Amino acid sequence: MQNPFKSETWAVPEGTVQTVKRLLSENIRDYLPRYLLAFLFMGLVAASTAASAWIMKDVINEVFINRDKMMIYIIAGAVIFIFTIKGASTYGQMVVLSRVGNAIVADLQQKLFRRLTEQDLAYFDRMSLPELAIRVNTGAASARAVIELIVLSLGRDVLTLIGLIAVMIIQDPVMSLLALVIMPPIVIAVSVLVRRVKTYAKRQVVSNAKIGATLQETVLGVRIVKAFGLEPVMHKRMAGSVAEVQHQSNKIASLMARTSPLMETLGGFAIALVIFYGGYSVVEMGKDPGAFFAFITALLLAYDPARRLARLNVDLSKKVVGARLMYELIDEQPELEQIDNAPELKVEGGQVNLDDVHFSYGEGAALNGLTFVAESGRTTALVGASGAGKSTVFALIERFYDPQSGDISIDGQPIKSVSSESLRKHIAYVGQDSYLFNISLRDNIAVGKPSATQAEIEAAAQAANAHDFISDLPDGYDSLAGEGGGRLSGGQKQRIAIARAMLRDAPILLLDEATSALDAESEAKIQTALEKLMVGRTTLVIAHRLSTVRHAHKIHVMDQGRVIESGTHDELFEHDGIYRRLCELQFQSAKKEDAA
Ligand code: ADP
Repeated sequence: MQNPFKSETWAVPEGTVQTVKRLLSENIRDYLPRYLLAFLFMGLVAASTAASAWIMKDVINEVFINRDKMMIYIIAGAVIFIFTIKGASTYGQMVVLSRVGNAIVADLQQKLFRRLTEQDLAYFDRMSLPELAIRVNTGAASARAVIELIVLSLGRDVLTLIGLIAVMIIQDPVMSLLALVIMPPIVIAVSVLVRRVKTYAKRQVVSNAKIGATLQETVLGVRIVKAFGLEPVMHKRMAGSVAEVQHQSNKIASLMARTSPLMETLGGFAIALVIFYGGYSVVEMGKDPGAFFAFITALLLAYDPARRLARLNVDLSKKVVGARLMYELIDEQPELEQIDNAPELKVEGGQVNLDDVHFSYGEGAALNGLTFVAESGRTTALVGASGAGKSTVFALIERFYDPQSGDISIDGQPIKSVSSESLRKHIAYVGQDSYLFNISLRDNIAVGKPSATQAEIEAAAQAANAHDFISDLPDGYDSLAGEGGGRLSGGQKQRIAIARAMLRDAPILLLDEATSALDAESEAKIQTALEKLMVGRTTLVIAHRLSTVRHAHKIHVMDQGRVIESGTHDELFEHDGIYRRLCELQFQSAKKEDAA
């Protein structure tokens, strides 16, 4: 089974700061007015928190010590006012930030998806579906989380802390100094844990992707899994991944949890120290008890925002992992070189030339000095054993990959020098296993030409021998194809693919003949449809049927990425080479089938 973790990019390099900077610079500007509004609300939250500490002084001095009845009403009213402001601005801040956050996620997801569609086929060879899904989904979400964390820390927590520290300093500068001495060791202690959380968070993302991969393979390959009794193998794989995630979650949890007792203990010391000094100065030195209570209230209220700020680094490094993975996708440059403003391909006859083409997918050559011409308006057949490189030829002609050396040109224009869009517009492909989208059959055919009218679509379906079976469906052309075309038979799918190609009406046709046996009726229908399609087009066909090769104007026999024999059927048959042996093999199996 393929390894879903083909890319090496999981090794997330250091650079939390750069990622955070980039996230802010790319996302804050568009939403600046709304962020300013959020900051205004957060300022109000901070101010009302500070005020609630400040007012403790009067509660103690005026109400409890001076026993001033009037002040009871005034202070109670002020407290209600302060907390109403705090509640309302907390609400405002949350609403504004959530909306901006949702907008950022939506925006990034679209950007990511667009970027994904711009990637080459080589990228998709490297990446697995779960890996991509995680990059698109959690990438955007963690970008949002990082931004929100920073905005909240800077806005709400820092402002609140400033307000509270101001209250503390005004009430008692000496005690404030004492309390502030306690903070730095806490920050240092917590930051020691950061590195380790980072490592585990990264591993956890990978393990989660493995769970997704196993699930995906089991579901997609459920027939094989059941038929070959692979359930225990799958259980074992799943158990491994699940255990990994569990282990990492436990590690992260215990590391995160370790910050709490540390803070509690140190916090307790700080408070005890303050009570000792405060009590002593009120009782022994006759200082103002109201100021002391205001100070204590401010100190206690400062604890939460201070703790959050101390943990900011831990939380950020954890959340930034997803954002980094997202940026790796956004930054991935397509490998195929695209010339800016490349001219359009101009096709007259549609002659395709391959000249000494060498190509490798990575290891081992797939094409090895391949040279041939597909003449315009004619049918050129490629035959050869599986793995000879026939499908690779098609992929290169459509410029899904660039050859490492050698040239491919159409009507004398190197395909590298024209825009890929115009190149692909002139090519229609009909494959063995044509992918149908889960949309209506009408729209599936219209993929060939999105502007097509219903009449054009029906005409194409008629020509492809697909109209009758489509009309027999309860919903006709509106019937859904099912996922991957699952509601149609292989032969029906192929006829839809032929209709697509009819509609596209491209001068060059790439045809990958079905290897799997279809019933005789389907086969005949497909054959006549293809014959209609091939008329007047330059057709390259990966041929498996004798009837197809027999009618081809030219046959190229491929072996190990190069052409080893060329000619018409009769010429090659005379020659007594590989081709003749291939034919004889086919005859034998055809005879056996007939006899059966
Ligand atoms: P054919 O169509 O004649 O069966 P292919 O063109 O599919 O041959 O394959 C040629 C060679 O390239 C084979 O060795 C095959 O394993 C390899 N190959 C094909 N597609 C890929 C791919 N996407 N990634 C890596 N290797 C590939």
